Amino acid sequence: MNILLLGSGGREHALAWKMSQSTACSNLYIAPGNAGTAAHGTNVDMAVSDFEKIKTFCIEHRIDMLVPGSEEPLVKGIYDFFKADAALQHIPVIGPSETGAQLEGSKAFAKQFMQRHNIPTAAYREFSEANFEEGVAYLRQHSLPIVLKADGLAAGKGVVITSSHDEAVAEFEEMIKAAKFGDASKKVVIEQFLTGIELSVFVLTDGKNYKILPTAKDYKRIGEGDAGLNTGGMGAVSPVPFATDAFMQLVDDRIIRPTVAGLAQEGIVYQGFIFFGLIKVEGEPYVIEYNCRMGDPETEVVIPRLRNDLLELFAAVQKQQLDTVEVFEDPRAAATVMLVSAGYPEAYEKGKEISDIPAPAKDQLVFHAGTREEGGKVLTNGGRVITVTSLASDLQLALAHSKQTAAHIQFEGKYYRRDIGYEFVS
Ligand code: ATP
Repeated sequence: MNILLLGSGGREHALAWKMSQSTACSNLYIAPGNAGTAAHGTNVDMAVSDFEKIKTFCIEHRIDMLVPGSEEPLVKGIYDFFKADAALQHIPVIGPSETGAQLEGSKAFAKQFMQRHNIPTAAYREFSEANFEEGVAYLRQHSLPIVLKADGLAAGKGVVITSSHDEAVAEFEEMIKAAKFGDASKKVVIEQFLTGIELSVFVLTDGKNYKILPTAKDYKRIGEGDAGLNTGGMGAVSPVPFATDAFMQLVDDRIIRPTVAGLAQEGIVYQGFIFFGLIKVEGEPYVIEYNCRMGDPETEVVIPRLRNDLLELFAAVQKQQLDTVEVFEDPRAAATVMLVSAGYPEAYEKGKEISDIPAPAKDQLVFHAGTREEGGKVLTNGGRVITVTSLASDLQLALAHSKQTAAHIQFEGKYYRRDIGYEFVS
């Protein structure tokens, strides 16, 4: 089978690593890929949203399966693009239709969907230019803190949590009147603040059946102790110690099953990953957000713990036969520690040489994110550069091994958090 994987992050390196191990994999292409993905297939210089170029490539290289790694092509409708084209419609796309991808692409859509299907989430209201004044009045009487969310995709920056009514109103005005996030903030969701502990749950669905993948928890803030600016993610652990069987049963009954059933009931085509960003509040799970693809860096701990052949799972998705397969999890714990460029998540420099990258071992994998190869050297090419995943009998050990290797890898301006998984280790 010839596969085209879209993306260039640590998530795509982990997916490429995993898919390339399948006996069903003949040729794996990664567009655009990074210096790490090149070890598992062929990198192709092609943007993930250039659908016409992707079409030509798929035809010329007889692609049998498309795996979009990130949300961008999915939210832009790559699934529908393939299904509407006679030359492409035979190619399975692992991901939702454009409407299904709205679970991530529009927070108002996701909230309305959850309301229709009684899925637990924070209470909310949505506002736009048309009811702006009503929104201001609503904010003025809202309990603090207040959560404001730009409706559309805003590169992880569209959520503002504030403990001041004045600040909330100013932010609201900036989002709607000054188009702070362009079209993405034409609509704003204002929601109740939930206090609890977050985790990520990943599901693979064929539209009828679904399988729950290993749980994970990521660390979004740049600073230790979860301080400072939000990033794409500085590390992750799997499994999540507080995601007990009893808690996961609640998640399945109240959130996952109603979500998959709700999509089917509404005729929304969805054959791919669903990422449930959850928060546990006094023992009960609530949905903070849906994403229509795997998380990054969670994939870098979830995929190494998945014992199944990933292409077998994808084939079952395509045939709508996920009910016939069983998911096998590695009992070991996994931890990943992300190395980033100095200055990230604000301005940073690229092009620094990376040295002392260890070869993959049985219990340790190095996944590239923002890297590129030039003249036999590996150079930094992004804010998040490279992540070290370790597997061990317990989380403490996995974290220690990842940190040891994170200290060993060298590039100018390297930074990483030394406290990933801090809640779970003594
Ligand atoms: P991501 O970068 O994960 O895609 P996003 O920009 O799509 O995030 P959300 O995940 O909805 O936005 O929110 C970002 C973060 O803000 C959450 O991970 C959570 O920590 C916090 N948050 C969002 N909604 C709430 C809420 N209702 N109560 C408390 N915290 C919240």
